[in-house]
Amino acid sequence: MHLIHQIFHDHFNCAPTVVASAPGRVEVIGNHTDYNGGTVVGACVEKRLFVALRLRKDQQIRLFSQNEAELVETSVRSYTTETLPHWTSYALGVFDEFRMLGSHDLGFDLAINSAIPTGEGLSSSAAFEMATALAFNKILGLNLPMAALVLLSHRAENRYVGVPCGLLDQTVVGFGKTNSLIVLDASSGRHHVFQIAEAARLFIFRTHIRHELRHSPYEVRHRECRNALIALSKVIPGIRHLAHLHPSDIKAYDIIMDEVLVRRARHVIEEQRRVGAFLGALHAGNLSAAGQFLNASHHSSRSLFENSSPELDFLVSQLCAKESVFGARLSGAGWGGAAVALTSPAFTSVDAEQVVDAYETNFEARPGWWTTTIGPGAMIHEEDGIHNEEGIHEEDGVNEEDGVNEEDGVRTEEKVEKPSKVQSKNRTQKKAENKPTKDPEVE
Ligand code: ADP
Ligand code: MG
Repeated sequence: MHLIHQIFHDHFNCAPTVVASAPGRVEVIGNHTDYNGGTVVGACVEKRLFVALRLRKDQQIRLFSQNEAELVETSVRSYTTETLPHWTSYALGVFDEFRMLGSHDLGFDLAINSAIPTGEGLSSSAAFEMATALAFNKILGLNLPMAALVLLSHRAENRYVGVPCGLLDQTVVGFGKTNSLIVLDASSGRHHVFQIAEAARLFIFRTHIRHELRHSPYEVRHRECRNALIALSKVIPGIRHLAHLHPSDIKAYDIIMDEVLVRRARHVIEEQRRVGAFLGALHAGNLSAAGQFLNASHHSSRSLFENSSPELDFLVSQLCAKESVFGARLSGAGWGGAAVALTSPAFTSVDAEQVVDAYETNFEARPGWWTTTIGPGAMIHEEDGIHNEEGIHEEDGVNEEDGVNEEDGVRTEEKVEKPSKVQSKNRTQKKAENKPTKDPEVE
């Protein structure tokens, strides 16, 4: 039996109706360009998060995360972010979005098990949301296309979880393809798939510093970018996104702006140009040139956007000193989290261990690292297709969701509404304390 089935059965004493999974993602280039209307490039890693789901006839909600070792109970009438553990808001935020699509009032049991480290820039949050969204979409028979699930999950994170993230995470996690980069134009929500040269390898090194997006510098940067745009729009009428400016615009107008805002804007505007140049170099098959744009991106994050950290800077400088590394940069929000390196096959585990040794000498902590192929995006698992302990789907990365138009990334404007928050009793319990009994379920 597959691990997620086992976990579900152990805690809910029955089999799940639907199992879905979604991978972590790595941001390859395009740092903080997404919420500024720019282009950003990501890829799915091999590590995945699994969700198993079953509807209930009553209005009870039970959520179990193997990683948190916690069972949480609430109900359709009383779920709220205020009294429940923070991690539940990713699943409940998605559920809340589905409720706004119809009068869905049934409770559910949901189990989560994940190999994606959390808070390290690999977007475990989007994996959690997208796997949950696919599972609800399937179990409710809604047949929403992937583009709709991406937007729904993104809204859940913005609105219910309260993190003002851009669209990259959910888009890459939803639309990811084996051996391919996902290139998102965040101003339109459209993406395209860019196949990557087979000679390229990705290595990911995670610092021992975790980031927390809520109440973090991320929110401050978000505000600074908005303020830069407001200031610039006074002299450049009609601009809607920072990333759509030309580097010469900011040079001409920086006199009217706060010096900090100028640095933030300059990073975004120049990073947007770097994304194009990076893809151009890849297209020409010039991995060395592509790598230089990754290095330049990191330099800009460090000096202009100020979202790097000594640990990330150290990792990047160690990596760049290796001949077999084309380029390296921080990946994700920054302030800790992970660094990514684009390498040739000549970069091996021996090189990676040398980098880690040097890090340990400096910071007295040993960062994790792994190399990854670029894997498929979120998918529904038919029971027969799941075979191994790692939770890896044995078949090829075909997205099995019915009716999915893989290339349809059209973003539709949707009204965001406040969830109704009705207070009632919510309960949480640690794994060992309680053995739930079999409860009524639908089907
Ligand atoms: P990242 O997306 O970079 O991993 P975030 O802070 O955006 O970092 O999201 C991490 C949060 O997502 C965790 O703190 C937790 O609340 C939730 N999460 C992710 N994976 C799991 C999981 N397997 N079980 C429970 N919660 C999870
Ligand atoms: Mg996240």
